[in-house]
Amino acid sequence: MQDCIFCRIITGEVPADKVYEDDKYLAFLDIAPINPGHTLLVPKKHYQDIISAPDEVLCEIMKLARLLGASVMKGLEAPAFNLGVNTGKEAGQAVFHLHLHVIPRFENDGHKMWGGGSYRGGEAGRVAEKIKKEMTRK
Ligand code: 5GP
Ligand code: ZN
Repeated sequence: MQDCIFCRIITGEVPADKVYEDDKYLAFLDIAPINPGHTLLVPKKHYQDIISAPDEVLCEIMKLARLLGASVMKGLEAPAFNLGVNTGKEAGQAVFHLHLHVIPRFENDGHKMWGGGSYRGGEAGRVAEKIKKEMTRK
């Protein structure tokens, strides 16, 4: 994908601070970190998002994300990390090449999680039903 910034990082055309690389995956520092050490993990093959990537890639990338999370915690002496996957522009996805965010977190680092709402009068049951009927495993 010629116009994909992550594909250009993968080919080496655009520089990045790499922290891990093998034949199928690459991890590099996010250029605009939420905290220092905020890392992006990508498959070298271009998939738009988590929906379009095959099961095998998802299994492998999750294992790597766990290793990366543990390494980020250890390397940066962070007690915690967030693992994030934005899917679709309304969810904040800006780069349409599948990537996982590994974000080290520190006590009082000033980053809040989003606020929770509530359900009213049977709404939760109706909402659950809408999802449930789509949950057919392939
Ligand atoms: P998204 O919002 O799509 O989940 O996340 C895309 C991430 O890619 C953002 O956090 C953004 O800072 C990062 N990013 C965008 N362009 C570049 C770049 O050229 N180099 C690096 N290292 N990160 C980038
Ligand atoms: Zn790409």
